Amino acid sequence: MSIGHTDVVVVGSGIGGAAAACRLAAGGLSVVLLEKQRAFTDLARGEWLAPWGIQEAQRLGVLDCFAVAGACEMRHWVTWDEAVPPEEVESVDMTRFLPSVGGPLSFPHHRVCEILAEQAAASGARVVMEAAKITIAPGMEPVVTYQGFDGPHTIKARMVLGATGRACKVGRQIGVTMTTATHEWGGALKVEGMGDWPADTQALGTEGDVMFMVFPQEAGRARLYMNFPTTNQDRYRGPGGPERFIADYELECLPDRGKAVTVARPAGPLAIWPRLSSVPDRPTVAEGVVLIGDEAGRTDSVLGTGLSCALRDARMVSEVLLAGDDWRPEVFAPFLEERTFRMRRLHYGASIIARLHASFGHEALERRRRVNRLAARHFGAQVTGLLNLVAPEDVPDFGFSEFFAERLFRESA
Ligand SMILES: Cc1cc2nc3c(=O)[nH]c(=O)nc-3n(C[C@H](O)[C@H](O)[C@H](O)COP(=O)(O)OP(=O)(O)OC[C@H]3O[C@@H](n4cnc5c(N)ncnc54)[C@H](O)[C@@H]3O)c2cc1C
Repeated sequence: MSIGHTDVVVVGSGIGGAAAACRLAAGGLSVVLLEKQRAFTDLARGEWLAPWGIQEAQRLGVLDCFAVAGACEMRHWVTWDEAVPPEEVESVDMTRFLPSVGGPLSFPHHRVCEILAEQAAASGARVVMEAAKITIAPGMEPVVTYQGFDGPHTIKARMVLGATGRACKVGRQIGVTMTTATHEWGGALKVEGMGDWPADTQALGTEGDVMFMVFPQEAGRARLYMNFPTTNQDRYRGPGGPERFIADYELECLPDRGKAVTVARPAGPLAIWPRLSSVPDRPTVAEGVVLIGDEAGRTDSVLGTGLSCALRDARMVSEVLLAGDDWRPEVFAPFLEERTFRMRRLHYGASIIARLHASFGHEALERRRRVNRLAARHFGAQVTGLLNLVAPEDVPDFGFSEFFAERLFRESA
């Protein structure tokens, strides 16, 4: 058994954990980054980074990793809907919300993880893949054990960052449990050979009992998403599931009945999952341990801000650790306060988006029609949509009031 010492052990080399490892190592701390996978595989995870998340990546010094992974800028956002003929649909210019960074980025998640881990190693972090059976003993000098390919290891650290996502491997060891809510079901598929779809245009839309999203990636690929009711959770299971998934893009609301998508071919496994959100039942900071990213709680993925949150956590926690030697739980209080505020806004925003675009049936269609009319008259009706673009604290307060929801859903006739 080997016994080592380090300043920080980061458990989980997803985008949040690896970005933190990059920043901390570049800032002069000794860092060990532990990842359970042997190699990063093409999973359906966050592949779209909001402009406010791009700013966080810039501040962490990791934005180039997204570029190297082949990230494409999304300049336009089109919301299709069965309530609106395709020729009347308007496109939103996404580059104008944070002009210093431009539009959101679309990229293959696993490639960004690979490149971030490489950057962490180049900055001096020790990156350990295939780290199994990790245990944490929290305290002023936390101790981490794991099983490597070459045997058991023990690391005495000054701080452990838990970044294992929904696995919550570190969180569970410091007694954090989550209250989880399920919001309908979703599926995701990587495709190649997209037809005539503009490479800088992302789309979202609702028709019948599906809500779809299209995020183009480089070389004619795209990540497609479908959200659908829980009652229909088996619709893509079994043989031919990916083909049925693509065929479901034959929709009246899309130009040419979605031909630009239906000509594409599956280029990865089809992932199907219940969309979940989770809220921690106690503070996600303990003596010698801080949780970041999804491990500290997450919103419904319908909003697409989980990566931006993970990067902000990585940035804020790194700033505390690099500011001096006082790493007591109390010094993370401003971080916890900001995170609580941020997540409250994001949960609320996700509930509005889900209610508007990922609810199905006649009543939901009528609601979208009414809200579309209201939004055409008052830009303010779209205020929660800003959460995809600017940081939660920069969205006007009125978007989070009971009064706003009341106006949006009950008085928009
Ligand atoms: C289908 C889907 C689509 C999404 N789309 C978007 C989107 O477009 N934009 C967006 O911003 N967000 C999106 N999200 C959310 C986003 O993926 C997450 O918020 C984000 O990945 C969280 O990053 P993380 O680093 O905290 O955790 P993760 O990405 O979950 O990374 C955790 C890492 O820890 C490793 N790990 C797990 N257990 C252990 C262990 N025991 N020991 C060591 N390592 C371990 C994992 O292998 C992984 O590498 C989506 C989520 C889903 C499920």
